Amino acid sequence: MKLTILGFYGGYPAHTVGTSSYLIQSNGFNLLLDCGSGAMLSLEHKLDPLKLDAVVLSHYHQDHIADIGVLQYNWQINDDQVKQPLSIYGPSIDQEAFAKLTWANATIGIGYKNKEVIDIGPFTFEFLETIHPVPTYAMRITERATGKVFVFTADTAYDEKLNAISQNADILMTDTNFFDDKIGEKWHMTSTESGKFARLNNAKRLILTHLPANGSHELLKEQAKLSAGSNIDIILAKKYLELTL
Ligand code: ZN
Repeated sequence: MKLTILGFYGGYPAHTVGTSSYLIQSNGFNLLLDCGSGAMLSLEHKLDPLKLDAVVLSHYHQDHIADIGVLQYNWQINDDQVKQPLSIYGPSIDQEAFAKLTWANATIGIGYKNKEVIDIGPFTFEFLETIHPVPTYAMRITERATGKVFVFTADTAYDEKLNAISQNADILMTDTNFFDDKIGEKWHMTSTESGKFARLNNAKRLILTHLPANGSHELLKEQAKLSAGSNIDIILAKKYLELTL
């Protein structure tokens, strides 16, 4: 399984990098995980969007879905080049947002629920609801042919309930939107919490993503390292970074 980071900022695009969007590929199957602002332009450098086989959305906040509409137009305008509509998986609990995933002759929405396990192409997805202002789902993605595991926390406050799907990941990717001095109500993890979460779940590698547009990412990484311990390789999300599991 190959993971390519297309965009990694939380909230809004900045410094020529978009918001949450990741390409996951295995054995010719191309899956877009979240489709934030700038996703279409970044994807263009790696893959013809018409070659996507599926899209999976963690939740319906704009920084994770901003480019869904234009992806749908791409498939609609070029419908003579594709055999069937593009499948877009999203939480079914928000019926109004879910209904928008279906666009005539272009895309079809497929709903998922909390704790559901679904096979999508060569992957098995397990979904678990996080702590966030809208229904949001972390996911454990297993490449069935190899048993390799990629865990994505999606957006969440620190929540050890997510340990249930986060153990022993080859790559764990966490929402690390805050520095360790963040106080008050938090809907995302801090650097220190991401490191701790990776250590508790015995991750091999930890990617920090959903990064803030302000402040030093190197500092964020140093803070995460302190709580993760020395056994875990910590990687800052970077545009077009490719990692193989
Ligand atoms: Zn969010």
